[in-house]
Amino acid sequence: MHVINTRDNAHDDGLLTEAAARLKDSAKTVALTGAGISVGSGIPDFRSAGGLWSVYSPDEYATIDVFLANPEKAWELYRALGNTLLGKQSNPAHRALAELETAGLLSGIVTQNIDNLHQQAGSDVVLEIHGDHQHLQCLQCHHLETVEPAHYDDGAVPRCPACGACLKPNIVLFGEAVRSLGEIEELISGCEVLLVIGTSAQVYPAAGLPTAVKHRGGTVFEFNREQALGRGGYGGIGGISAITDWFFEGDVVETLPMLLDALSAERGG
Ligand SMILES: [Zn+2]
Repeated sequence: MHVINTRDNAHDDGLLTEAAARLKDSAKTVALTGAGISVGSGIPDFRSAGGLWSVYSPDEYATIDVFLANPEKAWELYRALGNTLLGKQSNPAHRALAELETAGLLSGIVTQNIDNLHQQAGSDVVLEIHGDHQHLQCLQCHHLETVEPAHYDDGAVPRCPACGACLKPNIVLFGEAVRSLGEIEELISGCEVLLVIGTSAQVYPAAGLPTAVKHRGGTVFEFNREQALGRGGYGGIGGISAITDWFFEGDVVETLPMLLDALSAERGG
């Protein structure tokens, strides 16, 4: 595993150039993103200390059963979540991925996030496995509407204008099926380089992507503060990941643009 870090600018430019060259030569590159890419936009990881899950326990608020049995209670969480996401802006890491796609060097993004920041940054192909928080959905008649800030005001649970049922955010609650599995399979097929960004990819279906790419001889780039991929059950040996080929250590808001700069130099040269 090659390690490139942003600490004290101590990264090895030779390694960075090598990584950029690998990316440039890849016939198909896909990104997998998680909570870590949006921390730089002011959205804390829900699982972190003081994060949303420490206030609203998922079992108690975030399951489909709670929504069906007690929508008023479930909406306490949805309002807190909505107010956390409201007005947040994409950051340089999101924009770096949008630039890669525009340059024809990224085929698409699989994201665990529900914050819409990839689309806001200009990315086109974004598969949201956990849905999105920008729409409300009706489980009865499949009506879908754009969320308004007023939906997050205290008050009655929003109702479907078509059938009157309680609306829920268009997100995948615990107990609901993840989305876009067929599209993910298609996107990941033939993928030579997988960029894993801001996630330890421990949970299905994200967990299967790095191994799928590796089994076909592909290359995995990992961008995390601490090396997380491949630990705890994916063949990590002595703390060294058997999955990650290139580890970019540091804040993804710095490491992704750093790779993009190296890539520009590589393509220009
Ligand atoms: Zn309806």
